[in-house]
Amino acid sequence: MVDCNVLIVGSGLAGSSAAYHLRRLGVEGVVVVERMSGDSYGRYHRTCGEAVSDRLFALSGAPEGCRVRRIRKIRITCGDVDMDIPVKGHIIDRERLLKDLRDGSGAEFVKVSLDSVKTDPEGITAVCGDTVYHCRYLIGADGAFSRVRRDVFGTVPEVRFAAVNNLVKGDSDSDTICFEVSTKYPGAYRWDFPSKDGLRSVGYAVGRDSVEDPVETGIRYIVSGTDRRVVEGNCCLVGDAAMLANPLCYGGIGAALISGRKAAEGIAGGDLSGYARWVRKDIMFDRHFMDALETFKGWGEADYIDAVRPFRRGYSLLRGAYAMLRRPRWANVYMSIWMAFGKGW
Ligand SMILES: Cc1cc2nc3c(=O)[nH]c(=O)nc-3n(C[C@H](O)[C@H](O)[C@H](O)COP(=O)(O)OP(=O)(O)OC[C@H]3O[C@@H](n4cnc5c(N)ncnc54)[C@H](O)[C@@H]3O)c2cc1C
Repeated sequence: MVDCNVLIVGSGLAGSSAAYHLRRLGVEGVVVVERMSGDSYGRYHRTCGEAVSDRLFALSGAPEGCRVRRIRKIRITCGDVDMDIPVKGHIIDRERLLKDLRDGSGAEFVKVSLDSVKTDPEGITAVCGDTVYHCRYLIGADGAFSRVRRDVFGTVPEVRFAAVNNLVKGDSDSDTICFEVSTKYPGAYRWDFPSKDGLRSVGYAVGRDSVEDPVETGIRYIVSGTDRRVVEGNCCLVGDAAMLANPLCYGGIGAALISGRKAAEGIAGGDLSGYARWVRKDIMFDRHFMDALETFKGWGEADYIDAVRPFRRGYSLLRGAYAMLRRPRWANVYMSIWMAFGKGW
């Protein structure tokens, strides 16, 4: 039996952000358990487009040394239409960010997997292999297949699928991240982002790799959902464990980093209810994104082409408003895509 003040399960972006901010706020006795190490850990976390908006990154309070490329534009291509949305963001070096957060945290990191967790009035008990942790607070930052979510909250994501990211040789100097929407791709689109060191990230929301000569291919699950219960007594969920990734663009880096920070602030103040309120109220996690996904899933090739027609001569807010007026049944999709890319990715 090991006693600690705060046990964090998972040292991805959400868990590492929580550990980093707990130290900043003067909270001691923090242990982080992580099931992976070495190359498997690196590979898991490299499986990502690594794009994040400047607004969310700033809100996360994370160290900035990991920002490798400025992003000024999101291009959505559909048929012969390119729709360019101006944005402010960066491609980050996710492994560097994880290291910076870890180094700045002062927490004890242990390589072990959480097997089960139980909460009772005496405290929280987490079984990790041969070790039983007894803690005052527990943060479930254990990603898509969260044990903490299963054991304490019993909630199930509405969206869950395996996404593929390939690192391929190419121009990493561009300031544009691209999405090509078409039924020829599994999951209806393909992304192509600049990465670092002469590499690009090319991936599919669902399905198998069909990219030639990738330098590295990774498959990792994406989850999302509308159940916003993230606090149960002194136990909380953050990041993908809390199903906070956006179901339209799958942006989850910002949500993971900020939720880790907010949970840490709640624990430092001895009250997690502010964190629970933030998740319930913040527009990033509104259920209209899931409703829009339902509408979007029903579209075929002709619908995609029709939906982008108003933007043939470029994207503007006025054209967006016109598109919504002309196609009111799709207004939720237009609105949600604009918000997801403008605020949530
Ligand atoms: C292919 C792909 C591309 C993406 N691209 C982008 C993008 O460009 N921009 C963006 O904003 N978002 C993107 N996302 C989403 C983003 O990567 C996730 O939302 C984010 O990683 C969530 O971070 P997390 O810390 O909550 O979870 P994770 O990164 O999944 O970390 C969870 C950690 O917990 C550990 N763990 C799990 N179970 C246990 C256990 N039982 N015991 C101990 N440890 C455990 C895992 O090993 C892992 O280290 C992408 C996702 C995928 C799959």
